[in-house]
Amino acid sequence: MMQKQYERLGVSPAVYRLGEQILKGLGPRFAEIDRTAEVNQLKVLAAMQKNGVDAACLSGTTGYGHDDKGRDTLERVYADVFGTETALVRPHITCGTHALAVALSANLLPGDELLSPVGKPYDTLEEVIGIRESACSLKEMGVSYRQVDLNPDGSFDYEGIRQAINDKTKLVTIQRSKGYQMRPTFSVGQIGELIAFVKKVKPGLTVMVDNCYGEFTETIEPSEVGADMVVGSLIKNPGGGLAPVGGYIAGTKKCIDRCHYRLTAPGIGQDVGASLSVMVNLYQGFFLSPNVVAGALKGAIFAANLYERLGFEVLPNGTESRHDIIQSIRLGSRERLIAFCEGIQAAAPVDSYVTPVPSSIPGYDDEVIMAAGAFVQGASIELSADGPVREPYAVYFQGGLTWHHAKFGILMSLQKLYEKGLVSL
Ligand SMILES: *Cc1c(COP(=O)(O)O)cnc(C)c1O
Repeated sequence: MMQKQYERLGVSPAVYRLGEQILKGLGPRFAEIDRTAEVNQLKVLAAMQKNGVDAACLSGTTGYGHDDKGRDTLERVYADVFGTETALVRPHITCGTHALAVALSANLLPGDELLSPVGKPYDTLEEVIGIRESACSLKEMGVSYRQVDLNPDGSFDYEGIRQAINDKTKLVTIQRSKGYQMRPTFSVGQIGELIAFVKKVKPGLTVMVDNCYGEFTETIEPSEVGADMVVGSLIKNPGGGLAPVGGYIAGTKKCIDRCHYRLTAPGIGQDVGASLSVMVNLYQGFFLSPNVVAGALKGAIFAANLYERLGFEVLPNGTESRHDIIQSIRLGSRERLIAFCEGIQAAAPVDSYVTPVPSSIPGYDDEVIMAAGAFVQGASIELSADGPVREPYAVYFQGGLTWHHAKFGILMSLQKLYEKGLVSL
């Protein structure tokens, strides 16, 4: 029955059987992921009940958005789940980079210094900070930047960090997920140790964690181990695939009040911002997120083990613990990278008939290929894959709104490689 359904969608018996064989060994890990999802599901539910979410919260406002009960309640729900005093959760935050830019620019003043003790931040932050020149960067506003790279083994360079902290250091930014770099993703425990260290060197420092792709992969969040702000995008994990737009910043009242002023206007802050008609999606997406993240994690682990078995280098490897939903596979050739992305695209619920092709993108030296057939444009909590067309032809993929869809997508990627004779099973 099952195999027939896969065959109908184009997965050959050989690929299907290999998948089933790999899955046999993953039972205990999947059970652990389910337990994490269960804890997080209960956390979200408890926060919704405690804050009295009701039908009126789901309806939204227009115009100025004064007294928007749904918006204000959702912010309290986020604050409770992240264990923070307060939160800013808004559809007016356009993306993760915007949320991070708001958090940084609201809490840094001319003469202050920003420190990244974990190496280079995510690409789009380079212009926010001014590492690459840009109008309105922090650098242009008189905020300096310092960075301490990780040790070659991926650990924190504590001595270097101690030396980098000076009179001007005001805010420390820590990126949880590796993003598109070849370094490990940090666990919440590791982040907690780093936060304790920098706050011991200089009490009063503000610590922000870029939480993108990390939410609900563990049972605690960086805000529960000392981060003053955690920041992320709603078209990644916490939107659960249903949020059509938005970002969040959860943290201390001292930091978040400033973020409200930065996002809207000084003096007005959180009192305005009509939520229009998206509230139901933000609530429902957050409610589903723990399970959506669990499906994406299972997909990542399945892919790591499947491709590792076939001899490819995968990061993280098949047995490593997981702290974000990104999986990379070094496919080693242009043809394989393209075929992999064709498989992911062919598995999509939307735009499945489209063939992805490599093309040049502003800001990148090499051609890039991307596969995504998503309900929400660009949503990377939905099954998607991309990679620069250059050595070592590594594909990065993530997401999957359900585990079964993630599984199917990964089998389709292998099917395309297999059909083109680019891999032997
Ligand atoms: C996605 C991401 C961002 C930026 O988010 P956008 O929504 O793409 O602007 C920042 N940091 C990390 C680690 C990310 O994964």
